[in-house]
Formats: sequence, C-alpha cells, structure tokens
Amino acid sequence: MSSPRTATEEEAGEVRRFWHGLGLPGLIDVHTHFMPERVLHKVWDYFDTNGPLIGGLEWPITYRAEEEERTSVLRRFGVRAFTSMLYPHKPGMARWLNGWAVDFARRTPDCLHTATLYPEPDVESYVREAVEAGARVFKAHVQVGAYDPADERLQRAWGLLAEARIPVVMHCGSGPAPGKHTGPEPIARVLARHPGLRLVVAHMGMPEYEEFLDLAERYEQVRLDTTMVFTDFSEGFMPFPRRALPRLAALGDRILLGSDFPNIPYPYLHQLQALERLGLGRDWLRAVCHDNAARLFAL
Ligand SMILES: [Zn+2]
Repeated sequence: MSSPRTATEEEAGEVRRFWHGLGLPGLIDVHTHFMPERVLHKVWDYFDTNGPLIGGLEWPITYRAEEEERTSVLRRFGVRAFTSMLYPHKPGMARWLNGWAVDFARRTPDCLHTATLYPEPDVESYVREAVEAGARVFKAHVQVGAYDPADERLQRAWGLLAEARIPVVMHCGSGPAPGKHTGPEPIARVLARHPGLRLVVAHMGMPEYEEFLDLAERYEQVRLDTTMVFTDFSEGFMPFPRRALPRLAALGDRILLGSDFPNIPYPYLHQLQALERLGLGRDWLRAVCHDNAARLFAL
C-alpha cells in the first residue's frame, strides 16, 4: 500500500513548462479515471494485490487521493479537458455508473461527459439515454469486462455510437495481461460491421501495437491513445517496437494523449517525457498532447 500523494508545486510547474514550451494552451488527456469512490477504492485494492489482470506487476498508485484533490491536480497540471473512464465488470452495473458520470460531468465542467456499456439486454436503451444526456465519449473495457466486443447484443449500440460520431475508448489489447476476448481479432470484426466507429484504442493496443496500427491504417476513424505506452514501466515488459515509429509519425493526427491518471506507478510528467523522447518532433507532440483531441471533441 503506497502512501497518499498529491502533486507538488514543482511537479505541476514542470508539467506546465512542458506544454507551454510547445506553445500549447494546455493538455487534453482522453484517458483518466474517475468513478464512484467505492468502485475506485476497489480498483486500487486490486492494484495493491498485484493480481492477474495487471500481470502480477508491482503497481503503486501515484495519485491516491480524494476526488477533489485529484481534479485539482489535473487543473494545476494545466489539463484543459479530461475524461471519467469508468467501466463495469458485470451485468447490471453500467446504467448506474452512467448515472454517476452524468453527475460528475455536471459538477466538473472540464470533464468530458463519459459513459460506458456492457453486453446485456438493456444496453441499447441506456446507451441511447447517455447520448441524449450529452455523453461525449464512451469507455469499454474488454479485458476487465471479459466480453467479446463483437457480441451480438452490442451491435446496435456500436451502430448508434458510430452514427452519433461519439468516440469509444476501448481497452482491447492484451496488456498488461490477456483476457479471453482481447487482441485485434474481435475488434477487426467490430470494425468490419461498423467501419465508421470512432474507436480509440487504449494503450495503443499494448502489446499488439502493430496489429492495432494495421487497423488504424485501414480505418480512418480509428485512433490510438498513448496511455502508459513508451514509459519506462511499460517498456520494461511490453516495449513498443522501434521499427513501428515511422507509422506513429504517419498517424500523427490520430494519436491522443492518455495517461491513466490517477492509477499510474510513476509521476504524470514521465508520460509526457516518454512521448518527447520518441523524437518525433514538436509538431507531432503538439498534435498528440492537445490538437488532435481538441479537434475530435470540438474544444
Ligand atoms: Zn485506464
């Protein structure tokens, strides 16, 4: 159990210098976790156990603090917009999570109203309700939810989200540990039926990076988030292949900054430095850290 920590002024200053140095008005982080406190505490407890879903890794949560402090940290970092990635691990939970997320977005104007889904009989109706309530982004967690994203019960929901042009951030890669339905194959089946779905592949599909890059190259609405990728932590067990760097450069308008804040085992700045050291240049960094998401969410 790591001790509670919040960002120091020094750390916040370094993060602000990063984006200021790029001439940006701040950062947009498409992958941050906010959820009902008791759910988040359960997630933290799980990380503390080094359980199989996190590959048995030592995973101290750097920003383990109360919700108000966590939003304050992001603001001090200069994160202009962020999300409340939340996800069910069983049926009957998504509608309740979505209700919480409506309220969170209402009291947190810099949070992009987030919703989630699960393959269950009422999924289409609550997805429609969330869209009508103004959801700007959805989260789907194929690994924790242990469902096939191409499940028949999800088809109308994907169709509805594709039509509404609402991005879906999906944890569909097999990192940090594989699930029954993770990997590119089920996602390829989803995209074959819904080629216009604005899929954001979380963690750039770690560790199946190249297979998910194939999908992004094939489908112009597929994007990838940087969450935890390229950091010392991830490079240590699921390194991004150097030979794929030119593909990252070519897809520079479809890569979005994500961090996994607050559930990260290193300071926030490290994700930014990990992107910078790829050596893809200032324009690429500006697009990834801000401009691509600003365009996607019309911010
Ligand atoms: Zn995450």
